[in-house]
Amino acid sequence: MYRPRSILQQHTARLLRIIREDGPVTRVDLAQRTGFDSATVTKITKALMRKRLITETALGVSTGGRRPKLLEINPDVRTVLGVNVDQDYITVQAMNLAAQPQNTRRIANSDFRHPDKVLRTTQKLIAQLAAEYEHVIGVGVAFPGIINSETGACAYNAYFGWTDVPVKTVLSTGMTVPVKVENDARAVALGEQWFGAARNVQNVVCIRADIGVGAGVILGGEVFTGAHDMAGEVGHAVVAPGGPLCVCGNRGCLEAVASVSAIERQVRGRLKDDFPSVLANGDPAKVRFRDICRAAEEGDRLAVRALEEAAEYLAIAIGNAIDHFDPEMVLLSGGAFAGSDYLYQQILRHEPKGSFWQSAGDVKIERSRLGEDCEVIGAAALILKDFFAAGGNP
Ligand SMILES: [Zn+2]
Repeated sequence: MYRPRSILQQHTARLLRIIREDGPVTRVDLAQRTGFDSATVTKITKALMRKRLITETALGVSTGGRRPKLLEINPDVRTVLGVNVDQDYITVQAMNLAAQPQNTRRIANSDFRHPDKVLRTTQKLIAQLAAEYEHVIGVGVAFPGIINSETGACAYNAYFGWTDVPVKTVLSTGMTVPVKVENDARAVALGEQWFGAARNVQNVVCIRADIGVGAGVILGGEVFTGAHDMAGEVGHAVVAPGGPLCVCGNRGCLEAVASVSAIERQVRGRLKDDFPSVLANGDPAKVRFRDICRAAEEGDRLAVRALEEAAEYLAIAIGNAIDHFDPEMVLLSGGAFAGSDYLYQQILRHEPKGSFWQSAGDVKIERSRLGEDCEVIGAAALILKDFFAAGGNP
C-alpha cells in the first residue's frame, strides 16, 4: 500500500540511499550531493545515529582544518527475513541490512499441493527465526506463480495446483512487522538491482530458469508488474511449436523445453531409449541437472545435445525480450545457472540479440552473482526497499 512520506522521511531516505550505495561519505559530501544545508544534514544524520542505522567510522581526507568523519550504514542493527517457497523447499533466511545471511532454516516442501500445510509450515519457520532476533523489520516472501504484488495473494500456480490463495493474509496473521509477497522472478530482479549484477542499471530483464522459467523486468529503475501481475511470464511464450506439453496446457512453451526440469526430463527420456551416455550407468530417474552439466563439460554427447537445445531456445527468448523491452542488460539466474557455467556459455555462443541493428551488440548478457540465495535476497529486498524509502522506519 502506498503511504505518503513526510518531507523529513523523503530527505532521510535520500541521505540513506547515498550512504548505503556510496558510503562511507562525509556530511559535506551529503550536503553537496543533495543540496541540503548543513543544519539539515546534521539533524538527519544525528537522528539516524541515534537509531544506530549509521555510524561514524574512520576520518576522511581533510580539505584544510579538521579531518571530517565518515558515515556508513551499520548493517547489523536490524534483521530482515527473506522467505522462498518452491516445489522442493521452504527456506527462511535471516539477513542484515546488507542482505548478508545470519541464519537459515530450510525444510522439504513435500506437501506443496496443500496451501494450508505449506503456509502453516512457513509460518512456523518464520516465527522460530523471528524469535531469535530483537529488531526484525519485516518478512519478504518470494513465491512462484501469478502473485498480486499489492494483496500478496497467489492467483494461480500450475505446479502447486493453487488458485486464489491469500498467502500474505495468512502469513501476516499474528505478525507485528510488515509482510510482503511477490512473484519469485520479480523478487529476484529486485534483489539483483539492490545487491547483484543489476546495480545502477535502469532497464533489466532478469530471466530465471529453474523448475519453471519466469522473468522479472525492471524498467526505468522500477519493477514492472503489468496490468494483471503477468509481466515477465516469458516461460509460457511458445518457442518450439508442437513441442512438449507444458504445465499450462500449451505445447512448446520455453518452460517446457528449457527449464531445469524440462532438461532433466529430456535426458531421462533419452537414457530410457538407450542413448549412449556416461549418465547411463545409474537409474535414469535419479539424473539431476548438475549431473547433466558435469557430463556435458566432459563432452558427453547426450548431455551436450540437451543443453545446446535448451540454450538455443533460451537465446530465442532473450532475443525476444531484448526486442520487447530494449534493456541494457539481460540477467540470467536460477538453478539452471547457479552450479555450472555450461548453459550460460552455450547461450552466449548464440549471441542473442534483438531483431534490430540498433539494439544489437550493446546489451549485456550476464549471469547472476547472487547464487543460490538469489530468491531469499530478493525477498529481503522487498522489505528493505520500503524500509529505506521510509527513512529507516519499518
Ligand atoms: Zn506453458
